[in-house]
Parts: sequence; C-alpha cells; structure tokens
Amino acid sequence: MSTSVQWIPEGTDRAHASAARAYDYLLGGSHHFEADRALGDQVLSVLPANVMARQNRDLLGRMVRHLTGAGVRQFVELGSGLPVMGHVHEIAAASGHACRVVYVDNDPATVGHAELLLRDVPGTAVVGADVRDPAAVLQADATRELIDFTEPVALLMLGVTQFLHDEDDPWGLTARYRAALPAGSHLALSCFTWDNDPQTMQRTVEMFRESGRTPIVPRTGDEVRRLIGDFELLDPGLVYAPRWRPDAASGSDTERSNLYAALARKQ
Ligand code: SAM
Repeated sequence: MSTSVQWIPEGTDRAHASAARAYDYLLGGSHHFEADRALGDQVLSVLPANVMARQNRDLLGRMVRHLTGAGVRQFVELGSGLPVMGHVHEIAAASGHACRVVYVDNDPATVGHAELLLRDVPGTAVVGADVRDPAAVLQADATRELIDFTEPVALLMLGVTQFLHDEDDPWGLTARYRAALPAGSHLALSCFTWDNDPQTMQRTVEMFRESGRTPIVPRTGDEVRRLIGDFELLDPGLVYAPRWRPDAASGSDTERSNLYAALARKQ
C-alpha cells in the first residue's frame, strides 16, 4: 500500500492520537501524526511495543498464509487498525487466491483512513463497529455483502482482546462469534499476557490507566484458552506469538513474548 494513496479524510483531528496510527508508527509505517508518535513513544517507555507490534504483524502474515493454504477465502478482522504494512488483504492477495476481507474497527478516524486506503481495492470493506457488539459486526451491510456464512470464514482477533474487559465478557462474546460461523471456519487470536513478564505488564497496565486511554487487560494462558471454546486448537497450540509456526523470516531471538497466539478450527 503506497502513501501516495490519499488516506487523510477532510477534517481529520490530528491533535488526538489514535491507537491504529500509533501502532503503524511502532511498525515503522508512514501513516501517523505527531500525537500518534508521542503515544507510541509513551508506550515504548514501559514496554518493547515495537518488537511486539512486529511479532503480531508477522504472526498475522503466517496465520493468513496458513489459512489461504487451507482453502479459506473469507476473512473478518476485528480491531483491524489501518489496512497497511502487510495487512490481511495484502497477504491474501500475495497467495494468488481471490479472497474477501472485512476490516472492523470502532475508531471513527481509523475507519475514515481505512475507507480511503481501500477505496479502489476490490474484495475489501470496512465496517465501523464495536467488537463487543457481534450483531452489529455480523449484520453490517458490508459484512453480509462480502461474506458468505455458508462457507468457511476466518475470524481474526489479533491484538484486540486486551481491550476487552471482564465486564465485556470476552468469553461470551467470542462464543457468539463462534456460533455464527460454519464448520471449517477458524478463530485466530493474539493477546497481551501476564505470563512472560508480569512486572513489565503491570507497568504497562498502570501507564494505560493513568493516561486516560482505554485500559488494557493482559490475560493468562488459561483465560486465552477459554476464548477458543469448543473449536479445535491447531498445532502448535497456545504459544508465545513468535513460536506459532515460525518460518524462515522469523528471528531466532524472539522466542518469548508478551503476546500469546492461537489458531483454532470449527469442526
Ligand atoms: N489487528 C491489527 C493487527 O493485529 O495487526 C491491529 C491491532 S491495533 C493494536 C488494535 C485496534 O483495535 C485499534 O485500531 C483499535 O481502534 C481497535 N479496537 C480497540 N477496541 C475495539 C473495539 N472494542 N471494537 C473495535 N475495534 C477496537
């Protein structure tokens, strides 16, 4: 995706950081403003967030390649951020298969950028909806137009479940999504965890709380596993993100992570 594509809607508020643009900054992308870089630097002061962002995006690439190889042609990405820097439709297109991708985000600025970035990209759509409202996501016009719910769907929840709090009932929510998918569908997960480095994660939780931004909730392995429900957990199971089917491009120095990863399939 080239920065020559117009991606800034008229009237964009550049003074307030967006999580998606800060994430793009951490990934080394080019779609961010000063406030986003300041947020990214604030997070970097407590957490190796650039390493985690790269681990997460590389994981997304490996999972989407696996899924296209397994015959999946439809993707719904919840908490998508900006559709750049090797995002789902780009990886899927590189597979040589015609795939359809729905990106979902609840941040209006992110949705505005994504609509412009994907304006001329067939087989993609952007839905402005909250992950915590499965009906709004699944019944959105764009979802229903692009996704055939009689064929396998990959539901991607990568780097978003840490924004779901206990009172949101992430387990009940994922159960509703899982129930809406036909056999052969997949659920892909990555999530901040306490299990690797609890002190760093505690500092990160406090920093998010004190900054007034949406608090984050790292999860234990058991809590992540419960999101999978009765789907079949595929090899290598629930692991630190760099350990999920590493490929030739995966670094050998990134064995551990503050991110868990899992891919599961509906029987
Ligand atoms: N999923 C992408 C990936 O794995 O590379 C990007 C993840 S980015 C870290 C998280 C995104 O989730 C942000 O763009 C944020 O706006 C979005 N988000 C956070 N809470 C959300 C919610 N309740 N509903 C929809 N999107 C949400």
